[in-house]
Amino acid sequence: MDKLLANADACVKCGLCLPHCPTYTHSHDENESPRGRIALIQAWANQQLATSEKLVEHIDNCLLCRSCERVCPAVVPYGRLIDNFRSHLYVESDASFALSLMKKVASNKPWQNITHAGLKLYQTTPLQKIARLLSLPKLFRLEKIDRLLPDYVAPVSLESSYYATTAHVKGNVGLFVGCMGTLLDQETIRAAISVLTTVGFNVYLPEQQTCCGALALHDGDGANAAQLAEVNHRAFKELPLDVILTIASGCGSQLQDHMPAEFSGKVADISQFLAQSTNQLGELLKPLPATVCLHTPCSLKNAMRAEQGALKLLQHIPDINIASLPNTLLCCGSAGSYMLEHAKMAQLLLNDLLDAALASDQPDYLVSSNIGCALHIAAGLKERGITLEVLHPITLIARQLK
Ligand code: SF4
Ligand code: SF4
Repeated sequence: MDKLLANADACVKCGLCLPHCPTYTHSHDENESPRGRIALIQAWANQQLATSEKLVEHIDNCLLCRSCERVCPAVVPYGRLIDNFRSHLYVESDASFALSLMKKVASNKPWQNITHAGLKLYQTTPLQKIARLLSLPKLFRLEKIDRLLPDYVAPVSLESSYYATTAHVKGNVGLFVGCMGTLLDQETIRAAISVLTTVGFNVYLPEQQTCCGALALHDGDGANAAQLAEVNHRAFKELPLDVILTIASGCGSQLQDHMPAEFSGKVADISQFLAQSTNQLGELLKPLPATVCLHTPCSLKNAMRAEQGALKLLQHIPDINIASLPNTLLCCGSAGSYMLEHAKMAQLLLNDLLDAALASDQPDYLVSSNIGCALHIAAGLKERGITLEVLHPITLIARQLK
């Protein structure tokens, strides 16, 4: 509680963060702004405000995009403040069915295997069509998850937890794949291994690694997040690694902020790392005469502070035309489980992004460095009837390898 108050008291109420806050921009309600939320938490911590549904709702409406934190002159650790507040009020049974399910699948290998098998049955037979016709996902309160499912791709089991480089050795990297990547984005994992081993890095992929814990922590479940951190620490600590790379910036920011220093100090976004460590990459790539719209996730920009990496990496592809989204664009609305729990705001923010991405000529690809954002954006495009592939920057690089 002392820490909570000290962090909240650091806010000087200047309001510079307000125009950068997606919920304030859409609501013009001070309670939905960073400054307003901090004032609410301060009043609650000082026992001037009772716990109420309204109070919790204002705090829960925050996406934890940390745009406010990035521009704050008083360096208020806004993300930690909100996580801390949520942990004080955490009640396990309050989590929605969809979120409880996501957390269970994220942190539990047997559940992931069952989910793989279930998805295969659901998506490769007429079951999905029939279920949707009968509104079964809605009946079981799973329609928001159902909407996000990409087309089924058979999981390719990774043969090994170590992949040796095929080039002159530049170093050893650990690859943190994350729970959603393991389940829904196998192509990015394969692409990361392929590019890293091609440019000179030995890749370690410890099997024991698990969910980064972000879903649990942002839900207020600090104990579960700490358990997952412990498992990940054990999985990587004996390996001779120069760096631990993430392919989802949501995981990267969690690991940088919440792991012990000897682990967190090695964490880097894969695009940023490759952009800084390979200057001959262009010679290994085929030209791609196509327009690629670049989405920069909040976790990459505001937490990892590595927003230039994907741009610099993609610029290695000959003939590519990169269309960046306007800087004024705020969060896409994905934000971990936010898109499931706050569908209305998530949709408003997604519409802003899609309108900007499609404002001029439709790009040939849209790239994003975070699996959650990619799924949310892809679902929005599908709902608009637009065929546009959404993929990770490293996947595009791997496809262009000669
Ligand atoms: S910018 Fe920082 S100090 Fe100013 S109101 Fe926002 S959180 Fe408070
Ligand atoms: S984290 Fe994002 S949504 Fe939350 S208050 Fe800050 S800017 Fe607004």
